[in-house]
Amino acid sequence: MRYVEEFRDPKAAKALLAEIARVTDEIGATKAKPVHIMEICGGHTHAIFRYGLDRLTPEGVEFIHGPGCPVCVLPMARVDECVQIAEQPDVIFTTFGDAMRVPGTKKSLLQAKADGADIRMVYSPLDALELARRNPDKEVVFFGLGFETTTPSTALSIQQAAAEGLTNFSVFCNHITVPPPIKVLLDDPHMVLDGFVGPGHVSMVIGTHPYDFIPEDYGKPIVVAGFEPLDLLQSVLMVLRQIRDGRAEVENQYSRVVPEHGNPVSIAAMEDVYEKRPSFAWRGLGEIDESGLRIRDKYAAFDTEAKMGIGYGAEVAREVEEPEGCACSQVMTGRIKPTGCPQYGTGCTPEMPLGALMVSSEGACAAYYQYGQRRPVETAE
Ligand code: SF4
Repeated sequence: MRYVEEFRDPKAAKALLAEIARVTDEIGATKAKPVHIMEICGGHTHAIFRYGLDRLTPEGVEFIHGPGCPVCVLPMARVDECVQIAEQPDVIFTTFGDAMRVPGTKKSLLQAKADGADIRMVYSPLDALELARRNPDKEVVFFGLGFETTTPSTALSIQQAAAEGLTNFSVFCNHITVPPPIKVLLDDPHMVLDGFVGPGHVSMVIGTHPYDFIPEDYGKPIVVAGFEPLDLLQSVLMVLRQIRDGRAEVENQYSRVVPEHGNPVSIAAMEDVYEKRPSFAWRGLGEIDESGLRIRDKYAAFDTEAKMGIGYGAEVAREVEEPEGCACSQVMTGRIKPTGCPQYGTGCTPEMPLGALMVSSEGACAAYYQYGQRRPVETAE
């Protein structure tokens, strides 16, 4: 296939859906006893609802929406620290747009901007670098947020700043990695997971081998998937076939983009710039060992934490209460659907989000709401 339309071909989708229904029957999965498949990536969550795949697949297949949206797993404490940095004198705080509306304990970045902080949306850390070049009398801070998909570009911007000798550019590093939270979910005795649809973009960087522990240690299948409807349907079918056949392997449906061993240039940049933090706090999942990255000492001149003394710190665990009535942690761990949250569609909407899952388009609650399931809890499902 060469053109995107071919990945949305209705005939091919119908054939895949018929095969999914057949294999689901062979497994014996039903609405009462479904196969639970977690799509780890928020981009997949969004695509599943955008294309209505949750309604097209049989009732015996239940999607569990995983923690793969970096904005959604951002604890309120991190937002508070961003606001604190942005409100320092002579700071230009730069961030991707989707982090602007995430609520902190007192305000979001958007509210801080309205209060006078110099906060600017950028499309890339290179935009922040350019701001630093043009504003030598200001400290330009880039909010490094995201999984392995965005981590290399932040690393490259730090290497570039070092090469240029820029002294007014730094990164508030909140980059996180995908494999550790999967392990936490698999270790959770309350979690019922039968297989995974693995992240496409992250895997483009890290390859498929970081997931080997899923079949090897937990006996669960994982299929790395693309983002078009046929990609996702084919991936679900591949997971179901593994379950039916009693296999557990890492398979790569997205091989047109994802190399087995990842992208060596990106991996080298990440290894040069970052090291693992002993632990890092995730919204809904708590502290997870070696799940966050910090900037190595040799690049301390570009590390906002080191420069300003604000930030996570290596060994500091800070729990901040979530807003009252917010069920983000339960949604993120698959215990309830978004419509099961008492705030859904009433106290929490994309216009006035209470929790992070309603802020980002990759959040499960926003995806539910955007693609039609707008009913509050008492009439939903
Ligand atoms: S509806 Fe809002 S508060 Fe409830 S789980 Fe979703 S994002 Fe969180």
